[in-house]
Amino acid sequence: MTLHTPDEVDKIRDSCRIVFEVQQLLADAIRPGISTVELDSLAEETIRKNGAHPAFKGYNGFPASICASVNSEAVHGFPNNDSLVAGDMLSIDVGVLLDQYYGDGAFTLGVGQISEANQHLLNTTELALQDGVRSAQPSGRLSDISHAIQLRVESNGMSVIREFGGHGIGRTLHEDPHIPNYGSPGRGPKLQVGFVIAIEPIVSMGRPEIVVADDGWTTTTRDGATVAHFEHTVAITKNGPEILTLPKKETTTVL
Ligand code: MG
Repeated sequence: MTLHTPDEVDKIRDSCRIVFEVQQLLADAIRPGISTVELDSLAEETIRKNGAHPAFKGYNGFPASICASVNSEAVHGFPNNDSLVAGDMLSIDVGVLLDQYYGDGAFTLGVGQISEANQHLLNTTELALQDGVRSAQPSGRLSDISHAIQLRVESNGMSVIREFGGHGIGRTLHEDPHIPNYGSPGRGPKLQVGFVIAIEPIVSMGRPEIVVADDGWTTTTRDGATVAHFEHTVAITKNGPEILTLPKKETTTVL
C-alpha cells in the first residue's frame, strides 16, 4: 500500500478531474445510433486536449482509450463500430495519466429508454459504490469496503463478479492492494490517511460466472445477464473518504 503526500493526492486529483470531464462529455453524447468507437475518439481527444494521456491505450496491449462494455459484457470491451440501440446498457471505464499520476473511473448508462429491471441494476450498483466509499474510513480496514458492496448487491438479489475488484492507484494504474467486492468486514490492511484507491463494484443481474473472449479481454457473463459497473478514485483523508473523480461540491452531496 502506498501512502501519498497531500501534494501527490493533488496530482491524482488533477488526473481524476479529467476523468470526470470525459465522463460528462460521453454521458451527454451517448444516444441510440452512436458507436463506441465514436465515444472512444471523443474520450481520447478530450484527454489529449488536457495535456494528458489515455492510460488504457496500450496498457498490456489494450487497443483503445476507453473500455466500452455493452449489456452482458462485464468489463474490458473493445470500442467497435456497432450503433448503440435504445435499451442497451453501456459501461464505460476510462483512465487518465497526467504528470506521472493516474485517475480511474467508470459508469454505466442506459441508452434511451431502459427496462425497470435495468434501472434497478444501475441504482443498486451505484449505491454499492457509495456504500463502499462510505466504508473507506481512516479508522477501518480494507475489507469493510468489500463487505459493504457485497451486502448492497446481494440484498437486492444480484451478484458480485468476483474475478475483478478495486485497487490502489497513484504512480501506477493498478497497485496493491486488490480490493475484492465481497468478504467479511474488519480484515486486510488498516486504511490510512494518504491511501488512494479505486473502488469499483461490477454487478451481474443474474449469476456471477464470467467468460473471457478469444481477444483476451472482453469479459461477458456466462448466463448472458446484464452487468453494471461504477468506479471512483477515492483518497482517504483525516475527515474520511474524498471522491477524487467528482468535483468537490458533488462529493459532499454523495456522502
Ligand atoms: Mg479501476
